[in-house]
Amino acid sequence: MLAISEEFRKELNVIGGDWVSADSGETFEVTNPATGETIGTVPMSGKAETKRAITAAHEAFLTFRKTSAKDRARLLRRLRKLIIEHQEPLAQLLSAEQGKPIAEARAEVRMSASYVMWFAEEARRIYGDTVPSPWADRRIMVTKEPVGVVGAITPWNFPSSMLARKIAPALAAGCTIVCKPAEATPYSGLAWGVLCAKAGIPAGVVNILTGDPVEIGKELTANPLVRKITFTGSTRVGKILLKQSVPTVKKVSMELGGNAPFIVFNDADIDRAVEGAIAAKYRNSGQTCVCTNRLYVQSKIYNKFVEKLVEATEAMKVGQANEEGVVQGPLINEAAVEKCEDFVADAVAKGGKVATGGKRHELGHGFFQPTVITNAKQRMKFSKEEIFGPIAPVYKFRTEEEVIELANNTEYGLACYFYTQDLGRTFRVSEALEYGLVGVNEGIITTVEAPFGGVKESGIGKEGGHQGIQDYLEEKYVCIGGLGL
Ligand code: NAP
Repeated sequence: MLAISEEFRKELNVIGGDWVSADSGETFEVTNPATGETIGTVPMSGKAETKRAITAAHEAFLTFRKTSAKDRARLLRRLRKLIIEHQEPLAQLLSAEQGKPIAEARAEVRMSASYVMWFAEEARRIYGDTVPSPWADRRIMVTKEPVGVVGAITPWNFPSSMLARKIAPALAAGCTIVCKPAEATPYSGLAWGVLCAKAGIPAGVVNILTGDPVEIGKELTANPLVRKITFTGSTRVGKILLKQSVPTVKKVSMELGGNAPFIVFNDADIDRAVEGAIAAKYRNSGQTCVCTNRLYVQSKIYNKFVEKLVEATEAMKVGQANEEGVVQGPLINEAAVEKCEDFVADAVAKGGKVATGGKRHELGHGFFQPTVITNAKQRMKFSKEEIFGPIAPVYKFRTEEEVIELANNTEYGLACYFYTQDLGRTFRVSEALEYGLVGVNEGIITTVEAPFGGVKESGIGKEGGHQGIQDYLEEKYVCIGGLGL
């Protein structure tokens, strides 16, 4: 059994430093996707609560914006220390609501701590410019200032670290924030409220509320006090939020969906490619935006690669989060399982072969067997749609030109991967792929030090890297004249 810490199991919103219920007193239930058991209930908030949270964030901003970079860095370092100290209860809570194996949950919590540390460091490097002036008696300065109140909406697949990537740069820049975590995984979101209070972050700087996504999203995007929207989630919802942000001309960052190709050339190290494919496909049971959606394998090594991939897939242990050796947990809900069944049925009807898996797992609830489908074709649904589950479709290709065209033939452009030992091809292919993240001979590349973000319909802006703080800053040009020089 996962042990849920009472300290971090918060069932109220945090607004202006107070823990409060929804105005109506209404709540909604949160369940463990691995067992179907209810974990508890959290507030069903709407427009009024969101408006109050924005007002609290705005009031806090008037003071917080004036804090020194050094003080903000100190607060963030304290926050990071608390995350590490409470890694275990935070990871247990995360696994309980999200279902991922405890080792993955711990890694996610550590990742959150790393983001906080990274932005604690970046806070002190928000440099502006002094520009050579065209006028003898004037000087030009370009300064950077926090944008103001930020509205953040996050998904359920990384309920801790997706908020880390937003809260940490916002605070480092001197912004305040109103967060809405996903309804499937609100506890890890609300836990940030506990951590921020413990770290001594002033009331109103970080506000978190759960509830009706449409109402909260409408208020966050319409309210003129919110100067930036940062969203991680599906392209569908991202487009809604983009549209809603137009009338008040907000800054936006969008981390949206993907359709990642994973290309294995004839000259690749096959064992390394299989290891990378397992990591890139099955992490979080296939529920990450950078999970490979399409494996393209060159014809000469196709059979050998499939054989090894099937063997490695069958070796993965599926089970409850805290069971020894488990690397595959459940999917987030019944709809996700049905979607996987539909993808398999569609592929089989169109000539695909189930090499392993293909069905619900005998553990029931959200569990689905890790699956490999061979003879995958472009006409199959999963070549266009995000699978978000443990299904690996393997396509055969012949030439480099052909596979680049296939890989780029999607409206998405988040992550892609390829395996080769040819140096020229490494550069040629990474330059030809229209993606924001490219893994060459690596299946997992996310790290706080590098900019994460997609192109095309996968998003706008970057999280992480030295770029990650820029979207939380405005540049101001100051011309100082009348100097009488
Ligand atoms: P989603 O359905 O778009 O939901 C994301 C968030 O938006 C949730 O908090 C959701 O609230 C909220 N939401 C839903 N409808 C809304 C609306 N009309 N207005 C305002 N907010 C609304 O995505 P998801 O299923 O949670 O997450 C999976 C998706 O996220 C995938 O497409 C994945 O690729 C993408 N993702 C991208 C990245 C990246 O960095 N690019 C990282 C992780 C995930 P409720 O939960 O209450 O519905």
